[in-house]
Amino acid sequence: MRSTMGEGPLTITDILRRGQEYFGESVVSTFDGASGVATATFAEVGARAERLAAALRRLGIDGDQRVATFAFNNQTHLEAYLAVPAMGAVLHTLNVRLFPEQLVYVVNHAEDRVVLVDAAAAPLLARVLPELRTVEHVVVVGDGEADGLGEVLRYEELLAADDGGFAWPDLDERSAAAMCYTSGTTGNPKGVVYSHRSTWLHAMAVNAAANVGCTEEDRALVVVPMFHANAWGMPYSAWAAGADLIFPQRFLQPEPLARLISLTRPTISAGVPTVWNDLLHYSESHELDLSSFRLLTGGGAAVPRALVDAYEDRFGIMLLQGWGMTETSPVCALSRPPRGTAPEEARAWRARTGRVVAGVQMRVVDDEGRELPKDGKALGEFEVRGPWITASYYGDEDPSRFHDGWLRTGDVGTLDEHGFMQISDRSKDVIKSGGEWISSVELENTLMANPDVVEAAVVGVPDDRWDERPLACVVLREGAAAGPSDLAAFLAGKVASWWVPERWARVEEVPKTSVGKFDKKVLRARYAKGELEVERLPGK
Ligand code: ADP
Repeated sequence: MRSTMGEGPLTITDILRRGQEYFGESVVSTFDGASGVATATFAEVGARAERLAAALRRLGIDGDQRVATFAFNNQTHLEAYLAVPAMGAVLHTLNVRLFPEQLVYVVNHAEDRVVLVDAAAAPLLARVLPELRTVEHVVVVGDGEADGLGEVLRYEELLAADDGGFAWPDLDERSAAAMCYTSGTTGNPKGVVYSHRSTWLHAMAVNAAANVGCTEEDRALVVVPMFHANAWGMPYSAWAAGADLIFPQRFLQPEPLARLISLTRPTISAGVPTVWNDLLHYSESHELDLSSFRLLTGGGAAVPRALVDAYEDRFGIMLLQGWGMTETSPVCALSRPPRGTAPEEARAWRARTGRVVAGVQMRVVDDEGRELPKDGKALGEFEVRGPWITASYYGDEDPSRFHDGWLRTGDVGTLDEHGFMQISDRSKDVIKSGGEWISSVELENTLMANPDVVEAAVVGVPDDRWDERPLACVVLREGAAAGPSDLAAFLAGKVASWWVPERWARVEEVPKTSVGKFDKKVLRARYAKGELEVERLPGK
């Protein structure tokens, strides 16, 4: 029997129209880094998106040509998020912190025609511009100098040179809307192409009450960069829900972030744990009012239990953990505790990786690709598939990353019968000691529960006897006296005794990737070059 339902396409145009028409008075705020916040209503932003689309058409953007952004989190970036896909073109969000050679690679690979660049980021683009083969126009946002970019267009002038209004075309929901490249820790970055349909479905999944549940009552602070997996869908989910949007630009350090929070009183936010950890440490010596928040989400890296506890104890805020990848739009799991959880147990659940969200299928497989039981015990690689999970990479087959239509995540862990996943490691970070796995994530999270430890990263290093052993790199609180033997004693009883590292290095800071995660390959390289001062305890 055929269904009698209609066929309306699921598009970003639908999201755009909904926010502009029904929530025209909702507000977009952009921080200037000091004490100023520029605001515009959704109605104004929608009208500016129409002008942007008209301007891009005048510049020759047609069909599914790519329009890139090289920008921080702000209102004009949101305008591009809305206008570029809705006009049928493809938004390519460039990571402003990519290495120059990777930047050149991704722009040429995606064949970007136009780049919208924030004046503050112009010098970074200028370094590589001569090598960008397909770029015809550079449009500068803001009043900065834009030195080194040659002849440029100015965003506001382009928008002003138009009567306004734009006839959004009818679009196929499966057509490309946006693309984002993975950060390419090994080899070249790989392109992921989101469709209108995948973006729409993902936004609605985020807005489900079982997940973030964004509504018109919310004010969403977009901490995660808009070049990092669509800022985890937040611009679209908040816009569709009519929630106010708050953009911090590039001012994510605790001090300006705290100021922005007190100015705008957000209710929800999402970011990597590093940002929440930095804010927490800042609060130890500064006033910090987080009372406006109902929910924070952390993801992109494991959220330590100590962080969940601290936000709850100090601020009464629920910090939920999410899991995802650029390849997965990204949200696939969120750590809402199961029904009936006692309040004192809820935080333990929230510190777990999360429960698979509706629409996503997840499984764990062994080394031979055989599915393992969903019992919360069997350890293997996660594989994932679904309507917002990439099924291939753009212009790069790389079949090794896919398995019978499932994406191989490269993450190792367990899945239980109720759909809760627990990551123990990235496969490339796994530590195999005497043939047995040690979870670097668990060691780090346990160490970070020690009050003297600000950050801890654990990497596997070669060992004559056990092949590999953990090396703990720790950042200690100023004035803290804890030494390796104290920290080893702290771990005793909390993790298996043979997991406790004998190699310890005190570092000033854990190196971070372009999106703010612990960069373990840098630590491994420093160790290999003998650059870390390692203290060795007697042990294994
Ligand atoms: P990058 O490769 O630059 O880190 P992604 O943001 O796409 O780019 O990274 C996705 C990866 O981040 C996942 O494969 C996983 O290893 C890690 N990750 C994301 N969320 C979590 C989480 N909650 N716990 C542990 N690891 C996570």
